Formats: sequence, structure tokens, C-alpha cells
Amino acid sequence: METSLIGKSILDGRPVEIRVSNAKIKSILSVETSPENVWIGPGFTDIQVNGYGGLDYNAIQSDILALGQISKKLLRCGVTSHFPTIITNSPGNISNLIQQMVQLRKMDPLAASCISGIHIEGPFISPEDGPRGAHFKEFVQAPNWEMFQKWIEESEGLIRMITLSPEWEGSSGFIEKCVHSGILVSIGHTNASHLQIIEAVKAGARLSTHLGNGMHSVLARHPNYLWSQLASESLSATIIADGFHLPAEVIHVFKKVKAEKLMLVSDSVALAGMPPGNYEAAVGGKVTLTPEGKLHLFDNPNTLAGSAMNILQGINFLLRNKLAELPEALQMASIRPQWLFEPTFDPFQIGQKADLILAEQLPDHSLKILNFLKNGVEIPLD
Ligand SMILES: [Zn+2]
Repeated sequence: METSLIGKSILDGRPVEIRVSNAKIKSILSVETSPENVWIGPGFTDIQVNGYGGLDYNAIQSDILALGQISKKLLRCGVTSHFPTIITNSPGNISNLIQQMVQLRKMDPLAASCISGIHIEGPFISPEDGPRGAHFKEFVQAPNWEMFQKWIEESEGLIRMITLSPEWEGSSGFIEKCVHSGILVSIGHTNASHLQIIEAVKAGARLSTHLGNGMHSVLARHPNYLWSQLASESLSATIIADGFHLPAEVIHVFKKVKAEKLMLVSDSVALAGMPPGNYEAAVGGKVTLTPEGKLHLFDNPNTLAGSAMNILQGINFLLRNKLAELPEALQMASIRPQWLFEPTFDPFQIGQKADLILAEQLPDHSLKILNFLKNGVEIPLD
């Protein structure tokens, strides 16, 4: 089957026709004109997905194959690649959840193609209330290389990144070992000092996880870990742009400071993609999902119980609030996270896997998806 897409490249704005055959890009031709406001880009890569559509990567399933639904549901939102994110838990449970993921990929070829890595968030984070967020305090601990190495082996190479706090003694040595093993180290859920953040960056940490969240609600004016991470030229940063985790003006400032090093994650929990209503959640107990997509504790609308949006909704938040132009908003959810792991990755190359998106910007600035391809196959838009 052969497919052809025509639009402006989100990389350089030039009109191109991309022909796809047998799951790969067959040719890329410059064309004179393309439909107005129609853009071609790579599919989205979401490196922080706890769950989606009622399914939870952090729960042991009686039917592992059911988890494959997450890949299918995310594909319909343009997410052609994602990292299931396993958060702080007992070492044994983390092992079991990793092995569940490995098994899922062996049983479900589509999930194997969509799940391009595992993100371990914790348990080596801050034990402090505030920075720790909703992670279980009883399982938070100092970095332990032996433990982590066992998880790397159990994942059969699927662990691609870890979020940790460098406030623990021995963090630098641990970070160096991760980097040596090809694992991206991201700073998050941290109460680290300025010096500890500098040392972590020296040891090879390259990213900040959901910058501006997983923090104290009240913080010393300076020095503090937010300034330290903003000031570091070596740290890229992810943000949750669901409209609830960060106010627009904070994203505006982060974007000025981090420029092309700023990117989106959904950090979606299992209830993302579900109808509004009251639910019983694994973390947070009784929670409410509003029609606007805010997920909060049932008895306290001011306390968020995780993100209930997918990355496409994050892109639309940026566009509606004029925080980014369309090509950049799409890059923040696609090529920038890919570049963290493969700096020379070029989505528009002959022979490249055809995970592509065709999108139109509407007069109200929001995004209308015209077509998605995963491995060259059109995904139905329902
Ligand atoms: Zn987090």
C-alpha cells in the first residue's frame, strides 16, 4: 500500500510531498505549493505515560494484553511512540511491573512498536512532602545501583530513562553509571541544593522532569532548585501543559529560558481519556474528573490527582494560549523528545519508519488532525 502526504514541513516550513510504502518513507519531494495551514511532522513521542483510558501501567494486570489498548488509544491521539512510566513502588513491585511490560511487548506487536522505552520515575527521589508529590513515602530511598541494574536486566534493555533526585549522597556515582549504560538521567521530585544540581549535571544528568511540578508550594526566593535547573544550559526540560499543572505565564518564561530544550509530556494517569465523573483512583483515593479535564481530589478541587490529558491536548493548550506557533508546538511533542535519545534523528529521511502526522491549524489556532500514519498505516480518527 502506498500513501502520499502533502504539507509544509514542521522542520523548515517548506512544502513537501512524502510518499510512503511498506511502512517506510519512500521519497520526499519539494513541491511548489501545499494546502494553506497544513503541516507534516513526525508522530508524537510521549516519554511519560503512567496510564490512559482507564488502564494503568502501574498496576499488575490479570490480563496483560489489555494494556495494549493504551497504545491503540494513544495512537488515535497521534502518539506513535511512548514510554510507560513506572513510579515509586517496592523493589519487587517495580520488577513485576517491568516484567509485565516486557511480556506485553512480546505478545502484542503493535504495543511493541509503540512502546519504545520505559521511564522509571523514582524510587530514588526526595522523601520530602511537596517535592515527593503523590509518590509513596515508604518506598522512597537512596539510589541503589545493584537494584537498578537488576531492573535494567529485567527490562531487556527497555529502560531508557530515570527520574531521580540528586539530593542523596552517592548520586553522582549513580548518575555516571546510568549514563555509562546509555540511560538518560532526569532530575525531578527533588529538594536538591544548587551544588547538588551542578554536580548531577557534571555527572551527566541532561533533563528536568515536569519542571515546575513536584515542588514545594512555598519555596525560598533564592537559591532554590527551580532557579538552578532553569539556569543550567545543559538541562533540557519537560513540562505538563494541560492548563492545570502550570499557568500559561510560567510556560511562557520556561520557553524563553529553555528555548529548543523545552518539550512536552502528558504524564497522563489511568483516568486520562475517560468521561468526566467521580472515580476511585489507585493514587489519591476518591477523585473527580471535570469536563475541562482537571483531575482533582473529590473533597479538594485545589489538589490535583495527576494529569488527565494526552499530549495532543497539551499542544492545543500551547496553541490556544499563543505560547507557540504550530510547527514549534508539534516539535515540542515529537522531534525534541526523540532528539534526547537520538540527536541525529531525522524524521524526513528515505527509509525512515513512516510515523507521520498531517495537521491543519484552524482560525481559532487549535489543531485539526487530518491524517496519522503508524508504520505507514493510516490510523482511523474517531
Ligand atoms: Zn512526577
